[in-house]
Amino acid sequence: MDFSLADILAARRVIRGVADATPFVPSPFMTRASGQDFLLKLENMQPIGAFKLRGAVNAVMTLPDTVGGVTCCSTGNHGRGVAFAAARRGMKAVICMSKLVPQAKVDGIRALGADVRIIGTTQDEAMYESQRLCETEGLVEISPFDDPKVIAGQGTIGLEMLEARPDLATLLVPLSGGGLAAGVSVAAKAISPKIRVVGITMDRGAAMYASIRAGHPVEVPEYASLADSLGGGIGLENRLSFPLCRDNLDDVVLVTEEEIRHAMQVLYYEDRIVAEGASVVGLAAVLAGKVASDGPIGTIVTGRNLDMAAFTRIMAGEDVQIGDLSVKGKHYGA
Ligand SMILES: *Cc1c(COP(=O)(O)O)cnc(C)c1O
Repeated sequence: MDFSLADILAARRVIRGVADATPFVPSPFMTRASGQDFLLKLENMQPIGAFKLRGAVNAVMTLPDTVGGVTCCSTGNHGRGVAFAAARRGMKAVICMSKLVPQAKVDGIRALGADVRIIGTTQDEAMYESQRLCETEGLVEISPFDDPKVIAGQGTIGLEMLEARPDLATLLVPLSGGGLAAGVSVAAKAISPKIRVVGITMDRGAAMYASIRAGHPVEVPEYASLADSLGGGIGLENRLSFPLCRDNLDDVVLVTEEEIRHAMQVLYYEDRIVAEGASVVGLAAVLAGKVASDGPIGTIVTGRNLDMAAFTRIMAGEDVQIGDLSVKGKHYGA
């Protein structure tokens, strides 16, 4: 395994002006709630509404000219990033997704001109379809998390956070396949070796958490979640994001759907930010008392690509149904 800060510095040059330099702002409410400076890296402000643009742009822009097209599996945001980057390069893109992906994300990808395939009911089935397309149609697959170029692109977020605030003591990183946590932890620990980097994910279907505990990549069942972008496996053949997360993450913390729902309301009502469930797990973990820090805390608001009908119901305190998941509503402040 050969991945370092140098890869992330190279990615920064590739993505400059396209997918970088999002705001990094204090949250007064979360600062009061945690007793530490609490800062939000606003990746929801990316042109595609999520951080995955960084890794996708780095991966697509560095492909050789001989490549005819790209494919990937996605819970929505990686596909949108790949579609955006491929359109910029005038390349064909085929995005494979399962039925669990919300319609808003599917529509966003189609609008960028990519070809969308909806396959099966799990992220793993979408992954197998994308791998099949590589063999049958000669496309190049871009993994959402287990690709050095993707990890390097996501790692540029860590560079920007530590350059702005070298005094950060704890980074709370939403965790699924671990491309984000791998890149951010390599960047952060290269700059600030004592920093604590904690992965946060939902308590059902947490593949990276289960894999780190098992000592090797394992498969877990997939569930509908408010944090739909955190769904899916890490791949039994995982080569890079698993070892990097295993070696670099100081802890992995799990949050419940109820904690995610509450944190979405907090971010909206206190900071006036619209964000997906996957984006708020760092806030959720702090609000639930599941992580502490002895210095400034930074978290990444990873994306805003949600179903607005469900979002407005959640904000209004109404019950929501997401697939087979029922989330009980509660008025904010009640
Ligand atoms: C993909 C994604 C994550 C998790 O990133 P991984 O690299 O898969 O760990 C978190 N939040 C959002 C909004 C995402 O799209």
